[in-house]
Amino acid sequence: MVDWKNIETVLLDMDGTVLDLYFDNYFWQEYLPSHWGRLRGLDAETAKQKLIPKMKSLEGTLSWYCLDFWSKELEIEVIELKTDIEHLIQIRPSALEFLKALNDHGRKPIMVTNAHMDLIAMKLTKTGIGEYFSHIISSHTLGCAKEEVTFWERLQENIEFNPEKTLLVDDNVTVLRTARSYGITHLLSIAVPDSSGPERDTAEFPAIYDFNDVLSSPL
Ligand SMILES: [Mg+2]
Repeated sequence: MVDWKNIETVLLDMDGTVLDLYFDNYFWQEYLPSHWGRLRGLDAETAKQKLIPKMKSLEGTLSWYCLDFWSKELEIEVIELKTDIEHLIQIRPSALEFLKALNDHGRKPIMVTNAHMDLIAMKLTKTGIGEYFSHIISSHTLGCAKEEVTFWERLQENIEFNPEKTLLVDDNVTVLRTARSYGITHLLSIAVPDSSGPERDTAEFPAIYDFNDVLSSPL
């Protein structure tokens, strides 16, 4: 599934790839709308009907991923609210074994994520995965989301990598398409990024169920 002899650089997304997307989905689709509604005397269903279309309209933009934006917009300290349910932050199946194997073989990966820095900090503290990465790059630092080609151009200004010898694993098909248009050759998606959700259609991209699927081929 992965042609390791032609890969020099491994780029890994965080949410839905290394970590279970259930935390994020539950937070944005259930926990936050209910909390926001409660403060305004709305039941959870009404609150969801008001908030979810607004969130959807910004999907894929840097604002959508920005905790500061939502804190201001919703008048809620979003990061504080996330700590209420931080016990739901979990590593995906075999992801830790995969990170260890990459490190053992001298292929320390780079994290490329649309997550906000405060959320990255929370998740690294909770899971301890930070030590396995050589760099942790947030799109908020580079000023554009991974869905934009500019992100990949700016990434290359910061980190030397040969796109043709780079593997990107990301659960987001739009991100994979953008990375491909930039020239990244080896692309993998995730079949079930949210452990409580259904299997997803990953379109033209091969998908892994857990990282054992790629660990079985020699690194
Ligand atoms: Mg993701």
